[in-house]
Amino acid sequence: MVGRLAGKNAIITGAAGGIGLETAILFAKEGANVLLADISEPALEKAVAKVKELVPAATRLETRKCDVSKEADVQAMIESLDSWGGLDVIFNNAGIMHANDDDAINTPEAIWDLTHNINVKGVWFGCKHAVLALRRNKKTKGSIINTASVVALVGAATPQLAYTASKGAVLALTRELAMVHAREGFRFNSLCPAPLNTPLLQDWLGDDKAKRQRREVHFPTGRFGEAVEQAHAVVFLASDEASFVNGSDFVVDGGMSKAYVTAE
Ligand code: NAD
Repeated sequence: MVGRLAGKNAIITGAAGGIGLETAILFAKEGANVLLADISEPALEKAVAKVKELVPAATRLETRKCDVSKEADVQAMIESLDSWGGLDVIFNNAGIMHANDDDAINTPEAIWDLTHNINVKGVWFGCKHAVLALRRNKKTKGSIINTASVVALVGAATPQLAYTASKGAVLALTRELAMVHAREGFRFNSLCPAPLNTPLLQDWLGDDKAKRQRREVHFPTGRFGEAVEQAHAVVFLASDEASFVNGSDFVVDGGMSKAYVTAE
């Protein structure tokens, strides 16, 4: 299949969720071989069925259960791509935002640790084993994309302190890895999505109109983003078109983080 990602072996974590699934669809459309990874096997089965339905000509699609907070899982997942010719792209996208995450006083320590184990350590393990795989397979280029969030860039008076701190860590570690590995041809970029219409946020907002309005008012566009709008950015970052894009906080937010007063 000819496409912007033809011949590339890619892993997407959190592939059964909003951003991950839309990215898997676009990666498959662009000719990548895709391993969809997630902690939930039933959700993965549904996700891969959807990709197959939408992209019947997909080159190679497989699924793998992986808890990104467990290094052995991440290592085995990435090493499994050696038999495909080695990893070229990893989208470290799995993440959680826990309902009990709150401010400095009320966030339980267990929620802090859980959030950081998945959102930060999970990304670190993904980066670590991606670098080892790229070297092992003698790759002269590779693209690692890590999902952060706009909350790593702008403050919110609706606190989810553990989540925000975890995404700040993703930005910082990604930037540093971009500097360390640039001469090897390995690019590291952070994706910074604004709040989206995905289960992660929408389940939490439910039908609470006030809670929703409190957030929507900050969007110049007057709406939340769509997962596919993030996925298009990920395709770009994964592709060779982005060969000079490295260490960026790649913000896809409809202008939200640049807003002061939005239009009525
Ligand atoms: P989602 O909840 O729809 O999907 C997340 C996926 O990650 C789920 O399929 C879940 O099963 C999986 N997952 C959870 N824990 C895991 C683990 N330990 N190992 C492997 N997989 C695990 O969420 P989404 O909106 O698609 O979010 C994807 C990423 O984007 C997350 O990192 C999130 O923090 C970030 N993000 C989301 C928004 C938003 O508004 N949705 C905004 C900014 C950033």
